[in-house]
Amino acid sequence: MQLVFATANKNKVNEIQSLIPDSINLLGLTDIACSEEIPETQATIEGNASQKAFYVFEKYHQNCFADDTGIEIEALNGLPGVLSARYAGEQKNAEDNMNKVLAELDGIENRKARFKTVISLVIDGKEIQFEGIVNGTILREKRGSMGFGYDPIFLPDSEIGKGEKSFAEMQLAKKNLISHRALAVNKLVEYLRKLE
Ligand code: IMP
Repeated sequence: MQLVFATANKNKVNEIQSLIPDSINLLGLTDIACSEEIPETQATIEGNASQKAFYVFEKYHQNCFADDTGIEIEALNGLPGVLSARYAGEQKNAEDNMNKVLAELDGIENRKARFKTVISLVIDGKEIQFEGIVNGTILREKRGSMGFGYDPIFLPDSEIGKGEKSFAEMQLAKKNLISHRALAVNKLVEYLRKLE
């Protein structure tokens, strides 16, 4: 079977190809000559993942999976959520986004948050979704310089009492083992292995 991962990043494609059976030939967006920006206009993370996967399925007639990720903060009613990349504006700046979150949570005790990745897999027009969630809390200041996005202000629950490292203070290899993205990818890989 030929399957498209809706990403232009060949490294991401190779990483997942190495985890799934050889009988599945994984392609990236460049392999199918898709260079346009795929619309992400839905109101939820689930909706955006779905929109991207169906876009490729319908326009390019290829089975496909697509992912979407966001950070949901309880005291902000789930925001930034689907707006995570552009929470502080269309410049999509990580520092601005974190500063906005820290200002909004100033004086607020409930700092519960979660990262959520949703992968939508569309095969022959039928969709199945896989979800990865990491629960944690928003720190009072930024800590660490690794990772990206909201990593410096996110303390995963698994670190409480065991190092207290924010995602940005963790070696990438460790974050990649326990992240929301890894959890969702693991579920996708397990499913694809069973398709054999
Ligand atoms: P995307 O759907 O993977 O493009 O993620 C959307 C936005 O969520 C990114 O621009 C980041 O702001 C944020 N984000 C996604 N994954 C992570 C992560 O692992 N750490 C920190 N921020 C993330």
